[in-house]
Amino acid sequence: MRAMVLESPGSPLRLVDLPVPVPGPGQVLLRVRACGVCRTDLHVVDGDLKEPKRPIVPGHEIVGEVAELGEGVSRFGPGDRVGVPWLGHTCGRCPYCVSGRENLCDAPGFTGYTIDGGYAEYAVADADYVFPLPAGYSDTEAAPLLCAGLIGFRSYNMVRDAERLGIYGFGAAAHIICQVAAFEGKRVYAFARPGDADAKGFALGLGACWAGDSGESPPEPLDAAIIFAPVGGLVPEALRVLAKGGTVVCAGIHMSDIPAFPYEILWGERQIRSVANLTRADGEDFLKVAPEAGVRTEVTVFPLEQANQALARLRDGKINGAAVLVP
Ligand SMILES: [Zn+2]
Ligand SMILES: [Zn+2]
Repeated sequence: MRAMVLESPGSPLRLVDLPVPVPGPGQVLLRVRACGVCRTDLHVVDGDLKEPKRPIVPGHEIVGEVAELGEGVSRFGPGDRVGVPWLGHTCGRCPYCVSGRENLCDAPGFTGYTIDGGYAEYAVADADYVFPLPAGYSDTEAAPLLCAGLIGFRSYNMVRDAERLGIYGFGAAAHIICQVAAFEGKRVYAFARPGDADAKGFALGLGACWAGDSGESPPEPLDAAIIFAPVGGLVPEALRVLAKGGTVVCAGIHMSDIPAFPYEILWGERQIRSVANLTRADGEDFLKVAPEAGVRTEVTVFPLEQANQALARLRDGKINGAAVLVP
């Protein structure tokens, strides 16, 4: 099969020919129909995340069709369409797994990082960690739901009672969560890179009530802010626009250093927290909510061989919505 492989971080992916993987007990073999390109893939490729399997096939927003069942799998049948997220496996025994926090598992497997992912014609996945996908989405439209949507939704859930919600970094996750929040009656304030008129117009079209530059003050204080951009300098900026008791959620897996800031902008019971990974329950919830909220995804499709170009466009902030690879 054709696959795009990362041999060493910092170098481009290489198109190689690999044997079609064989599903082990409890696994399914999937024919990949589409795979989203997530910012986390960039962090893997650029070496910000330090411990990838090497070589690794990236990609953790896989939409695939079940091609073969491993021993003991009865949950799916051949031809079923399923989605594979970032959380590929958990131990089931550590204190986090047994307390309903498998997103924090001590011995996890992550798709496209420690387990080969979807930048390929085929992939294997643990059947217990994949999701059936809602029917109203095409393969390429469904792909960004699997990480941008799902981890975005976990971040949103942390502040779902906020009426006035700021979103920093208007990429794939923001474009999905903005729609969910607007559907639920929130006033969404979108913050884009200074001068990025496209991103601001895009946000307004998806239900934001205001769009401005990061660093700008919105017309009213906010109850919460979610930071999707990997930029630590946004944390104090977001704190400065929060009302008392407000929360800043850092949604990304990697962020540049957070600069020192005066205690007074945290005072008033403001909080900063991160969100790590996802649980399978997050996935099940979100894949119900997305169609109910009428979420549409905007995608730019690239052939598999152009994974490096897709990653470069994402790095430069040149993708509205999400990039998706099709083998
Ligand atoms: Zn565990
Ligand atoms: Zn991701």
